[in-house]
Amino acid sequence: MNQKTCVFCRILRREVPAKLVYENDQVLAFEDVNPVAPVHVLIIPKEHIGSINEISPLHDGLMGQMVTVAKEIARKQNIHETGFRLVINNGVDVGQSVFHLHMHVMGGRAMAWPPG
Ligand code: AMP
Repeated sequence: MNQKTCVFCRILRREVPAKLVYENDQVLAFEDVNPVAPVHVLIIPKEHIGSINEISPLHDGLMGQMVTVAKEIARKQNIHETGFRLVINNGVDVGQSVFHLHMHVMGGRAMAWPPG
């Protein structure tokens, strides 16, 4: 997957429409097109990073920021007290389907643990 065809890079370039939720110089957040919870937002880095396998200590600030942005989204969507789940799927075994790093912010309903 290169940056030309990567669907999340295309959303970043506004070539593919998305319902944007938040943006700053490092990350973009938008609603998942196929939500599995009443709140289901994806946070992506603007840098094309394929997965967690590609991050290094240089990305520590970025990863921290993704969590901080997730917390803020949860607060704005009013799920911060009822509960929300942050998920980063890494690799095909656990269901990663888009190979541009992304964090799922999901909430608004009860969820089981452990995940399937
Ligand atoms: P994962 O399975 O962890 O790789 O998650 C990829 C997520 O991206 C899935 O939940 C998809 O529904 C979502 N997705 C794929 N294409 C789009 C798109 N064009 N706009 C918004 N979400 C998308």
